[in-house]
Amino acid sequence: MGDNGRVDILSPEKDKMAPATPRILYIVGSGRSGTTLLGKMLNEMEGVFFGGELRFVWEQYADGRSRCACGKAQAACEFWAEVLALWQALSSSEERTAARTPLDMIELQASVFQRRHLFAILRKGDRAMRGQPALTKYVMGMQRLYQAIAQVSGAKVIVDSSKRPIDTAIASLAGNIYFVHLIRDPRGVMFSREKRRMRVRAMKGKSEQVGALSLALRYAINTIQWDVRNVFVAWMARRLAQPRHTQRSHYEDLIAQPERTLYGIVDMLQMDSCNLPSLHDNSVDFSQSHIAHGNRMRFTVGPTPLREDRAWEQGLNRNQRRLIELLAWPLMRRYEY
Ligand SMILES: [Zn+2]
Repeated sequence: MGDNGRVDILSPEKDKMAPATPRILYIVGSGRSGTTLLGKMLNEMEGVFFGGELRFVWEQYADGRSRCACGKAQAACEFWAEVLALWQALSSSEERTAARTPLDMIELQASVFQRRHLFAILRKGDRAMRGQPALTKYVMGMQRLYQAIAQVSGAKVIVDSSKRPIDTAIASLAGNIYFVHLIRDPRGVMFSREKRRMRVRAMKGKSEQVGALSLALRYAINTIQWDVRNVFVAWMARRLAQPRHTQRSHYEDLIAQPERTLYGIVDMLQMDSCNLPSLHDNSVDFSQSHIAHGNRMRFTVGPTPLREDRAWEQGLNRNQRRLIELLAWPLMRRYEY
């Protein structure tokens, strides 16, 4: 068993050369809450590797065009080429039915990404794999991915920010899991989501005049989703990890006092040594990275100012603000907004 009570699928008893069970730090929460920023800061710390949303790694290997944060196509990036070669070498030491190519993993996702597997894992932990060959194969494939990343990067902790709960549940079977639940003021989240939606539509040449009512309806639906998501991920983290392996952080604190948030995470991970990213005059210096998937911020390199995005204060009108506050008030109170 791993030290989190999980079964080590590639146990050292089975193979003395097998890499250790990886430590996985999952950043969970609603989108537009600063997950890429936190991941990039953690990536600057020795012994930590942030891969972005690692669920998409297989697609990125397969399509040949998606770009790694280093600027190269993932297929041409030396780091990810080395990870894939090691992943395949680890797979070949396993039974003949193991997934051996990214396409195998993509195929498995179709049968594994189902609600029944999510609830089985939440209910039964690793016993959910019994009699489920596709799930077992996929979990083993992900465990090898985390192990290969750890070995190639030299990191002891792999940070994953994949958004869907099923990815998180699977990661809890693939390694020793830790959680950071990142929360942002819902008014900021809603405004940022809407701004992004408009930007994406404009890029596609679909600019539109949005009626006040349909905009209000979208804010209402998104706010309810924000409520449900935050309640669910907090509950999921409690089910999947030990209480001392979960932490709640606020986007606003990450900007105002980044050291405090990062030290809190270092403490939770019980890392022997740590070097925080270089933080000067409210800016953080990002080096080149190999974040596989995530928003455009993953490409940012060099000194980057840490500024809280408070555009919502001007961007939302009074009615929109009230609507969001009304629908989110129990959690806003709980999270002290
Ligand atoms: Zn790269």
